[in-house]
Amino acid sequence: MEKNTLFYVILAILVVQYLVQQYLEYLNAQRFKSTLPPELADVFDEDEYKKSQQYKRTNYKFGIISDGFSLVLTICFLAFGGFGWVDQFTRSISEDSIPMALIFFGIIMLGSAVLGLPFSYYRTFVIEEEYGFNKTTKSTFFSDKIKGGILTVILGGGILTLFMLFYQSTGPNFWVYAWIAVGIFILFINLFYSRLIVPLFNKQTPLENGSLKTSIENYAQKVGFELQNIFVIDGSKRSTKANAYFSGFGKEKRITLFDTLINDLSEDEIVAVLAHEVGHYKRKHIIVNLVVSLLTTGLTLFILSLFINHPEISLAIGVSTPSFHAALVGFALLYSPISELTGLIMNYLSRKFEFQADDFAKNTFAATPLVSSLKKLSKKSLSNLTPHPAYVFVHYSHPPLVERIRNLKA
Ligand SMILES: [Zn+2]
Repeated sequence: MEKNTLFYVILAILVVQYLVQQYLEYLNAQRFKSTLPPELADVFDEDEYKKSQQYKRTNYKFGIISDGFSLVLTICFLAFGGFGWVDQFTRSISEDSIPMALIFFGIIMLGSAVLGLPFSYYRTFVIEEEYGFNKTTKSTFFSDKIKGGILTVILGGGILTLFMLFYQSTGPNFWVYAWIAVGIFILFINLFYSRLIVPLFNKQTPLENGSLKTSIENYAQKVGFELQNIFVIDGSKRSTKANAYFSGFGKEKRITLFDTLINDLSEDEIVAVLAHEVGHYKRKHIIVNLVVSLLTTGLTLFILSLFINHPEISLAIGVSTPSFHAALVGFALLYSPISELTGLIMNYLSRKFEFQADDFAKNTFAATPLVSSLKKLSKKSLSNLTPHPAYVFVHYSHPPLVERIRNLKA
């Protein structure tokens, strides 16, 4: 394809994606006022319900503005030769392909982080603050951004360097080596996420001895789940929203409970949430998710290898000298419809897994405390009780509350 045609294909992808996205948001917003299903009548009282509606509307309006801003910015950058300018600036510093790629992406990422900062600040300190969720201080907010940035530079820069080394030494076959490297990286992060990444942002302490720990251990023993690591994380440092999650596998597996969860839920409810997490493990969801993400990574890298050699991809984004880094940007833009599609499949799978984990908790522990914990958590986060089915299909990794409750009560 010619470079101009490709340029318009990229523009079309950006615009169509934005329109589809906004149409889904619009459909969803139309249902903000719908009457609640009877199962959910007791989640909110009238005032809280109004507050949850207002929260959703505020987020909806904010999304239109922030997404619109980023679309206009991306299109302007493409149309007025922004990538070409950054590329030339990069070439004035170094002509070696690896440092060039690192500087090029460094500038693009720094620019988009700086432009995104006001939006992120507004979301945290105006919207979340107004609805009483925010517990983040300004210093935590900024130090999070800086730590996240450093992590991106180290991990992202490392992976990019590896990719280019493979590309230089093996040509079009580089995707196989890149896949193996990314595979090892994904496995490593999965195993050591709680040990290496989480401590940069949060404090984790082993759950204290006491009746909660005893109930959890009794449950774990009953279902034959070997559990040495139960940690409590100081989620309350940033937000009042509560959560629990499972990470790692083998000896490294651990369950992490937010301190907010421990404060808000009864002991039975916490064990029920935990039973759901154990369900994910026992039904092999952790392994399946890992395999699926390895396969999609392989697919992406394979398609990348078909594109990376075509100079038109670089030229289409307005860069005059084709290069690995420019082709990577063009590829990322062209590939986004495919990644939307794999995202749909992953969400579909994830919703199925949520039902299975709920069933596991119901069969091995009890349904009632899980139902009441889900209601409490939804109430706490003012979550949307009546999402539009099309919105759920595209965006939800968890089934809507009412479906989970119906399944648990069935
Ligand atoms: Zn789950």
